[in-house]
Amino acid sequence: MSETFRITFLGTSAAVPTTRRNVSATLVAYQDLKWLIDCGEGTQRQIMRANIGFKNLSRVVLSHEHLDHMLGMGGLLATLNMLQPVEHVVVHGNPTVLERVRQMTGYIGRTAQYDLQFQVLQEGLVFTHRQLDCYAFPTRHRVKQSYGFVFQEKPRRRFLPDAATRLGIPNGPERRRLLAGESLQSPSGQLVHPDDVLGPEEPGKKLVYISDTMYFPELSSVAQGADCLISEATFLHADAALAAEAGHMTATQAAMVARDAGVAMLYLNHVSQRYAQSEHLLLEEARHIFANTHLANDLDTIGV
Ligand SMILES: [Zn+2]
Ligand SMILES: [Zn+2]
Repeated sequence: MSETFRITFLGTSAAVPTTRRNVSATLVAYQDLKWLIDCGEGTQRQIMRANIGFKNLSRVVLSHEHLDHMLGMGGLLATLNMLQPVEHVVVHGNPTVLERVRQMTGYIGRTAQYDLQFQVLQEGLVFTHRQLDCYAFPTRHRVKQSYGFVFQEKPRRRFLPDAATRLGIPNGPERRRLLAGESLQSPSGQLVHPDDVLGPEEPGKKLVYISDTMYFPELSSVAQGADCLISEATFLHADAALAAEAGHMTATQAAMVARDAGVAMLYLNHVSQRYAQSEHLLLEEARHIFANTHLANDLDTIGV
């Protein structure tokens, strides 16, 4: 199946960077839009290292106000101001994180050379772009408001070229009109409707991002049927008590969400530097519960 989302992990470490992992940031590309999920310190340089470019990077969704998720916003906005690759940028976040970003923009010194908007996140629809809807859902962390995100492509119907050929519809603008929902007359005078040349409705792709949170069972309803689940997995399950206290999940809990939600694949993210020498254990314990688990590494790119 074709790729809908191109996801690049820019920072996969929890709380502090390590020599191999930067702090939280993930870039998602969908058609002609790119957006960041979180923007830890050094994210703009990670974007450069990943060879992504700033063009079309016009949204940032910030899960919460902890510094490892937002400290990179000052540098990123300053660079966008200088290079001007985009005409507008919308930053979504809770009121606390937006206030912190707003303060950072005060240091940039020059008024924004692009239209910079701030939008307060609430549970529910965040933005729509072409066939895609982004929703925020509340997580349970050590702050007043923190959110994870669902990126849901709308259901689609495929064009059936063989059916169109049988009905005598030539290649070209007629087919595009049918695809756009218009009925028309074939060269032989037959009335052809979009339903005659479109396949059954298929569900769109679903990508779910669980940012900092403690485990709670409802996470699996949110992630239900996702084509890809990216989840924080800060701790090993041996440290489950520590995880609960810090408002985080274990690799086992992330895998339980993936299993209970029936997702296609799981990427573990936001891992603690305490396991720098034993990261494989995170993967092993998760795979025990959900086989198609991967450990996200900085600059990994995947297609979904
Ligand atoms: Zn964090
Ligand atoms: Zn946090």
